[in-house]
Amino acid sequence: MNYKTLIGLEIHSELLTNSKIFCSCTTSFVGDENTHCCPICLGLPGTLPVVNKKVVDFAIKAGLALNCEISQFSKMDRKNYFYPDLTKAYQISQYDLPICHDGYIKTEADQKIRIRRIHLEEDAGKSIHTNEGSSLLNYNRAGVPLIEIVSEPDMTSADEAYEFLEKLKAILQYIEVSDCKMEQGSLRCDVNINVKSEDGTFVSNIVELKNLNSFKAVAKAIEYEEKRHIHLLEKSENTVKETRRWDDAKNETIRMRSKEYAQDYRYFPEPDLGTIEIDYDWIEKIRETIPELPNDKKKRFIKEYNLPEKDIDVLMITKKMANFFEDVVKEFKDVNMVSNWIRIELYRRLKENNTEIDDIKFSIEDFSKFLELIKKGTINNNAGKKVFKEMYETGKTPEMIVKEKGLIQIEDEEQIRDIVKQVLKENPKSIEDFKNGKDRALGFLIGQVMKLSRGKANPQIVNTLIKEELI
Ligand SMILES: [Zn+2]
Repeated sequence: MNYKTLIGLEIHSELLTNSKIFCSCTTSFVGDENTHCCPICLGLPGTLPVVNKKVVDFAIKAGLALNCEISQFSKMDRKNYFYPDLTKAYQISQYDLPICHDGYIKTEADQKIRIRRIHLEEDAGKSIHTNEGSSLLNYNRAGVPLIEIVSEPDMTSADEAYEFLEKLKAILQYIEVSDCKMEQGSLRCDVNINVKSEDGTFVSNIVELKNLNSFKAVAKAIEYEEKRHIHLLEKSENTVKETRRWDDAKNETIRMRSKEYAQDYRYFPEPDLGTIEIDYDWIEKIRETIPELPNDKKKRFIKEYNLPEKDIDVLMITKKMANFFEDVVKEFKDVNMVSNWIRIELYRRLKENNTEIDDIKFSIEDFSKFLELIKKGTINNNAGKKVFKEMYETGKTPEMIVKEKGLIQIEDEEQIRDIVKQVLKENPKSIEDFKNGKDRALGFLIGQVMKLSRGKANPQIVNTLIKEELI
């Protein structure tokens, strides 16, 4: 029997406002535990929350970028549950009137994955469980603004869910409402999953998956659950409606608890806050602040720069990277060279060091000058790699590095011919191999010449001269 998987996602994303959602405490995580709290975010009796307008602005911006309708009228509700890191014993969230609804994200295959709603809520604090068996509480995060984005169960595979998350993350980062760092918890994702036989007669119960720390974990957990659901249905059994957590070390999902339903939370309208009313002008004012979004940028890049799609994906992996690329291209016109050096040498280093492009030590002008040195043949590609490494690590100008390291390319044919002759004299066996048709010998000889010239000889000239001498 064939089965279809139905996947819906719930994504929590922390908003990049300076202050918390209902008080003026900072949202920064720099500093000691429990130093960014006040009576309001600690939920002390007698305090009153006030909605941070910037939070509403950001939610509208996210809604517009995700093709949602913006509700002209919404309200906050109390969601009642107790956790030690939620001092009020309720979370202020939105229940039946979310701020945005009915949006979508388009996939590469031009498929619409619908977004049911986006609502506002406050984050809870953090419990830290120590090895000694005690628990510590840090309330710096309590009251940090969140949007929860809930999709329809429109995804049918782990790949599709992965793509949706990548696209969503890129959009939220492009509009600068969230930094979406999953490893730091500013983006969190829960999955709802079940499977259905093709004729619709067998349907498994929906299972919720939590504790997913990366997009890869989301994909792996979905694949694991798909198999588990189908396996149970085939045995004429079914899944239990429950919440399971992903265990990355064991590569499996494990039961956490039975699933809560809306009625378990006894929602009611938050009596300490008024309604949120958003008029047409407010929405239009926010709409004007939305920059070019990833899908449009990609289309423009393909048209304007004529580069392969997969290269463009790397070049626009973040908005800052895309801006960097375009700024360099303004200074140095060889688009392919710019693309190659950014994608291969720069991107690799950024990834290795876990740094952002705005933390690099060299300027756009220096990077352009560096490319110019290679283009003009002042240094060869190999030397270029050395110069780039030094530029990246020290921020020195390329000219300074070339001078200090003596990397200027040797173009003088006579000088190179002398080195070639010396290498040939020292390697009679390779000459013999070459004459017997072993092409590898030529590569070896070129390598020796380059080594002797300390990487500075022009490789094309080396190639020509060796062939001349051999034939
Ligand atoms: Zn506070």
